[in-house]
Amino acid sequence: MTDLELLTARASRVGSLPVARVLPSRPHRTVGAWCFADLMGPVELAAGAGVDVAPHPHCGLQTVTWLFAGEILHRDSLGSEQVIRPGQCNLMTAGHGVAHSEESVTRTGGPVHGIQLWAAQPSVTRGGDAAFEHHGELARVAMTGARGDAEATVFVGGFAGVASPARRDWESFGAEVAVRGAVDVPLVAAHEHLVVVIDGAVAVDGTAIAPGVHAYLAPGRDGATLQSADDARVLLLGGVPFPEPIEMWWNFVARSRQELGEAWRQWSDGAPRFPSVASPLPRTEVAPPPWL
Ligand code: MN
Repeated sequence: MTDLELLTARASRVGSLPVARVLPSRPHRTVGAWCFADLMGPVELAAGAGVDVAPHPHCGLQTVTWLFAGEILHRDSLGSEQVIRPGQCNLMTAGHGVAHSEESVTRTGGPVHGIQLWAAQPSVTRGGDAAFEHHGELARVAMTGARGDAEATVFVGGFAGVASPARRDWESFGAEVAVRGAVDVPLVAAHEHLVVVIDGAVAVDGTAIAPGVHAYLAPGRDGATLQSADDARVLLLGGVPFPEPIEMWWNFVARSRQELGEAWRQWSDGAPRFPSVASPLPRTEVAPPPWL
């Protein structure tokens, strides 16, 4: 179908981790409110190595951490300290300002495989208070067809009739879907969607997509057929196209360069907008944005 576009992730690094940057992509900077998506790993950390994403600020967005393997310790400037494991969702709302770190729980090494997502906050909430939520148990839904089946875990929003308890400020959703054989999944016509392959090889409506490639589906569909030869796993992201033009730089989502520069200045000055994080790692400093 002509409404399916194949997009390629860009290789990057965050701290010591190799990541594949799925969003923003050139043709589609946002999908629903999702404005950033980094696939972390899969990597096997050596003994002594750690994730070590040092304290850094955010504003105007929510971070969602979702793991496929391993465990990560989240700390933030609200005083939260939370270990996250596969099947659990950490959701931090930055609002006007927050700072956080992501660290290894132990130094014994082991797998790191997951995704970090940012959802842009709409103007009605983006100046609000910071908040943090951990969801240890999430709704699952099974879909069975004549030629296969799938099971989805919904971490944000609603999908296939089940809903996550996590806060969301815009109509968007995220689900991990395990696929075996061919199965039709329901989509919402008002949503645009992104299918990101995590493990295995998957075809969407007969178009093969491999790890590192993802499929964008334009609004106007009420379903898609996912098909795998063996067990496969995808991440399904979607939502109503975000109507506000956003400006992103470093870890900030705003509406203008002036706002982005102000956020950088306040972080660099140690202003109360971005309180400190009780982390053993030193806070992250970056050079000013190029237009300052
Ligand atoms: Mn962050």
